[in-house]
Amino acid sequence: MIACTISFFARTVNIKDKLRDMQIKTRALIIRRHLYSNTSLIVSMLCPDEGKIDALAKGARRAVKKPMFENHLDLMCLGEALIQTAPAGGLARLYEFAADDDYRGIRKDSSRLERAYVILDLASEFTRPGLESARIFDLTTRALSLLERTNSPGTALLTFWTAIIAESGFSPVGGVCESCGEPLVKSKSFFVSAHVSGVLCGNCRPEGAGVATMDNATFTLWKNLESPELKRLELLKLGERQMKSLTRVLAPYTIAMLEKVPRTFTRLGKLSG
Ligand SMILES: [Zn+2]
Repeated sequence: MIACTISFFARTVNIKDKLRDMQIKTRALIIRRHLYSNTSLIVSMLCPDEGKIDALAKGARRAVKKPMFENHLDLMCLGEALIQTAPAGGLARLYEFAADDDYRGIRKDSSRLERAYVILDLASEFTRPGLESARIFDLTTRALSLLERTNSPGTALLTFWTAIIAESGFSPVGGVCESCGEPLVKSKSFFVSAHVSGVLCGNCRPEGAGVATMDNATFTLWKNLESPELKRLELLKLGERQMKSLTRVLAPYTIAMLEKVPRTFTRLGKLSG
């Protein structure tokens, strides 16, 4: 339905077929976990070269855990994984996982943890199995590091969010109305939609879902956050109103891009100030 969704996934290299039923060792970040049985888990891992891999971790839920998982199959654990990739029609297996970071600073603080859940959810939604995702892996791990040490968790989330949208090629272009060409400098508010690559004036307001109203200040903030220098970002702290107005624009935009509502979006009202 959305033409740019196709280009987003076509842009990445499809390596799924090359990855069938083979043993690989890779960096991996655990982004989801599901119970599989009384003793086993399915973990969803974000990997730099292989995209998202869902793998069965047998024995991971035993009271006496298997030493090869070192009790480290929690969400947000980052480490080295030994994986047997999925055979045709089957499920990948996780044989070993050795975590070297678990973002402990995030776990101790509920306001950071809540934002980390949204970051992991977005990372999961913006990747596909078998699609090379080095940039998304990098953005996600850097966002978690920043979230761990910043004094503005909301800023860390919004920076990641705008960057991952830009990375997927959906970054809106400002300045003039995408449809009629009118300059938008003087407009008090205009519209943005994932269905067009730019912003639209009031006369050209698009129909349908995923349309958000925004003002110049919010648009400027969006563009500034997309590719921030990390040094500057450490000092940056957005106000509650700024966070709220940007969240109000990014949420419908993202839902229209993905054509689904990410599960953590129910928390956004609380998280944006
Ligand atoms: Zn227009």
